[in-house]
Parts: sequence; structure tokens; C-alpha cells
Amino acid sequence: MNKTVEHTEKKYLIINGEKVETAGYSPLYSPYSREKIADIAVADEELVKQAITAAHEAQDVIGEMPAHQRAQILENVVRILTEKAEEAATIISKESAKPIVFARAEVARTIETYKFSAEEAKRIHGETIPFDAASGGVGRVGYTLKEPIGVIGAITPFNFPLNLVAHKVGPAIAAGNPIVLKPASQTPLSALFIAEVFEEAGLPAGVLNVVTGPGSVVGDVIVGDDRVKMVTFTGSPGVGIGISNKAGLKKTTLELGSNSALVIDKDVEIDEVIGRCVMGAFSNQGQVCISLQRVYVHEDRYEEFAEKFAAATNQLKLGDPLDPDTYVSSLISPRELERAVSWIEEAEKGGATVVAGGKARDGVLEPTIIANADACLKVSCQEVFAPIVVLNKVSSVEEAIELVNDSEFGLQAGIYTNSVKHALYATKKLEVGGVMINDVPTYRVDQMPYGGLKNSGTGREGIKYAVEEMTELKLIVWNQGVN
Ligand code: NAP
Repeated sequence: MNKTVEHTEKKYLIINGEKVETAGYSPLYSPYSREKIADIAVADEELVKQAITAAHEAQDVIGEMPAHQRAQILENVVRILTEKAEEAATIISKESAKPIVFARAEVARTIETYKFSAEEAKRIHGETIPFDAASGGVGRVGYTLKEPIGVIGAITPFNFPLNLVAHKVGPAIAAGNPIVLKPASQTPLSALFIAEVFEEAGLPAGVLNVVTGPGSVVGDVIVGDDRVKMVTFTGSPGVGIGISNKAGLKKTTLELGSNSALVIDKDVEIDEVIGRCVMGAFSNQGQVCISLQRVYVHEDRYEEFAEKFAAATNQLKLGDPLDPDTYVSSLISPRELERAVSWIEEAEKGGATVVAGGKARDGVLEPTIIANADACLKVSCQEVFAPIVVLNKVSSVEEAIELVNDSEFGLQAGIYTNSVKHALYATKKLEVGGVMINDVPTYRVDQMPYGGLKNSGTGREGIKYAVEEMTELKLIVWNQGVN
């Protein structure tokens, strides 16, 4: 049942610093309360083109702005967002059902992401080349410059609606690029909110344009337009692969999904890792690209781990995301709930055992632990993107790592061990973009290089690394007049 509140706000596109009306609007409902929270503008092809034109025309404005001024604008964003932190957290929580404790943590991280962007804006530089190292280089001096790549098309998912926008907008502005941003249809409010913060921070009109509407229309125009020089996409593998196919030679960064895994060695103090495993598997309802989905526990510690993990999981409070005690709330849509429940049912039919949770309660899926799930079941081999985690018993770290690698994904993996030998073995053998020693795969801070192998994507985020992707190297060679 969809309730209507007294005043739902109408939200416009932001093109060239103006709020732009559209022919159609789409109601936005909060996933937990199902109340209508806004009417969102639906852009057509023509309006997306207008946004790209605005960004294209703003290219010199931001590209030629001195680094200290770009850094200052980003510093202003840090200040304003710090002042508006609670407002931002409430927006995230309402539009995505992220429990408010995690929404506040996302805002804190977003502030850091913009802070890193402000700092990075001041250290974008090339290097001098030792030309006379080649016999044909005598009498030459040369160096590289890092120039802004041009208009960036940024397409973002629903699960971190403020911080994953920051991972694209922050480095783009640090590097001197204009942006056309298309946020996920379920979470446009955080993106529109930050665009207003940028305006207040002094960002010139046209540098950040926000276009809402279905990905199949808006995203498609962004990817297909020649004036867009790079597409930075975070989202599901299916959509990412479609974008890659369409982008041709256009530069792309693709941050996609995974079924992240953790290995627990036999010498581990189980009580010390339970809290991290609960957070890794169930924060944001498991809707995290590096959510803990598969755990491989040494057989000597398996029973103890399963028992203590289930006991801790059963303590988690379900309910309203705005309640500060809530740990698990609704999935992003009823359809996603239905899908997750059907995957649990498939696992049970396939011989697996539900150790904790397994059912929906008042529209919220209980945090669920499944044991003895065959590797070919969806809960094991596909990205579950729900509060579901699968436990497996192994007889050695070598066996565990082989099973971790038996995946079409490769984003991050973790291992808890007190053995240096096993830790080193894991760093060498795990086929992932990031290995966490003595932590869950869900660990991330915002300056670290972040990205995956296999179907988890290409390219890296983490401000410095995103700036690398968003700049072009230009070589300058001076002939000093010898010949
Ligand atoms: P999604 O369905 O792939 O959507 C992501 C974005 O792509 C949305 O803005 C969506 O718009 C847009 N889109 C949809 N179809 C498109 C098309 N044909 N062309 C261009 N854009 C299109 O993903 P999601 O459900 O929002 O997010 C969950 C996924 O993101 C998971 O797989 C998760 O692992 C991944 N993720 C990865 C990372 C990472 O850094 N590796 C981080 C977070 C999330 P609409 O909303 O309008 O459909």
C-alpha cells in the first residue's frame, strides 16, 4: 500500500545550473515505509543531450580553472556537507532504506572522499623524461602533462547513493572535468542534494549536471554520445557489460559486483572475528558490492564459528531504517525481496540448511545464514545482494583459496589467520583486486585503490586512481636546437 504524505517535493533535472522541468514525473517511494517522498523528473533523449551540451560548453571553465580554485570548491563542499551531515543521512536512509547508523557512516565517508579529492586536485602532475638516455634523444628535453579527459558520464547505483557519486564527481572536478551524472532511479535525492551543495560551494554552472530517468534511456544516450569522453559506471555486471559493448573505444571504468569470500584459518580466535563477519554480511542488508557472501572455515573451527555467528546474527534488530537501533531494514524493492527469498528456497531444495533467518518479517528479510550449499546454487555462485551468507567447511587454506577463486567475480577477498605463511600464500594466490589480511572482504576506505578482476570490472577508483583514469597523458618534447 502506498501512503501519501502531505508535501512531497517535485525534483527537477539540473542542467547548466538551472532546474529543468520535464514532460513526465515519476513518484519515488521510500522502500521501507512505502510512503511517497518525491516526484522525480524523467528526462527524455533530448534533455540528456542538452545536459551533455552544457557539460561540453563548461569544459574550458573547469579545465582552465587553477588547481587551487578547484581544490577550494571541493573544500567548500567538505565544509557544507559537514554542516548538513544529518540532513544528508536522512535523505539516504529514506530513499534507500539504509539504516540510519550506516547512512551516517556513509556521509562521514563521503566527507572524506571530497577531502581527498580537494587534496588530490593540487598534485596532478606529469614527469620529466630522460631523453638523452636514447642516442636519438640527445639535445632534447621532455615532460608529460596530465590533462583533463573531457566530459565524464557518471552512472551510479542505489546502494551508496552519496559516496559512490562522490567517487566520480570528486576526482572529475579535481582533474578539471565537467560531468553528466545519472543516479539510480531509486536514489536520485542524494545526487540532487549534492548538486545543490556544489552550487553553494561555488562550482560554476554546467560543470555538474544531474539527469534523472530510466537507465535504459538516460544511460544509453550518455554512453552513445561522442562528446562524452569517458563513462564511469558502478552497478551490476549485466548493465556494465552492455555499457562496455556500446562504448567502443570510449574510455570506461566499470565497478561491478561480486560474491566476496572470506577464509577462516584453524588458529583464529573465533570470538574476535564474529563482529566483523556480521557487519560484512549484513550491513546495508547485504547490498554492498563487497558484502561477505561466502565463508570458508577450517573444519576444526567450523562448528564453533557457525554457532557463534548464528547467535550474533539472531540478535540483530530489524525494522525502520530511521530507528537508530535498526541494523537490517528493507531491501531496495519488493521484487528484490522476492528474488532473495526464492534463492533461499532454491538452496533449501538443493539440500542446503538454513542456520539462521531465512524468512521475511514485515517486509524485511531476516539476516540469513545457509550451510552446506552446493557451489552451483545461486546463493553461492551469483551475486546475492541481500542479507544472505553461505558457510562452507574446508580442510585447508589451500582448499579454501581454490574455492574462493572458483567464481566469475574477483573484487576483494579476506583471510583471518595467524600464520604468516598462509597469509602470504593468500596474497599470492587469490584472484581478486584487493586482499584483506585479518579482515573481511567488505573493508574499504576511500583513498585506497578499489576495483576488481573478472566480471567485477575494470579500472580503479579511490581518488588518486580515479584521477589517473580521468586524465590524458600528453608528451611535450623540446628540441634545444642541437639539430
Ligand atoms: P544497476 O541496476 O546495474 O544500476 C546501476 C545504474 O545503471 C543505475 O543508475 C541504472 O539506472 C543504470 N542503468 C540501468 N540500465 C542501464 C543501461 N542500459 N545503460 C546505462 N545505465 C543503465 O545496479 P544497482 O542495482 O543500482 O546496484 C547494484 C549493483 O551495483 C550490484 O551488482 C553491486 O555489486 C554493484 N556495485 C558495485 C560497486 C563497486 O564499486 N564495484 C559498488 C556498489 C555497487 P536505473 O536505476 O534507472 O535502472
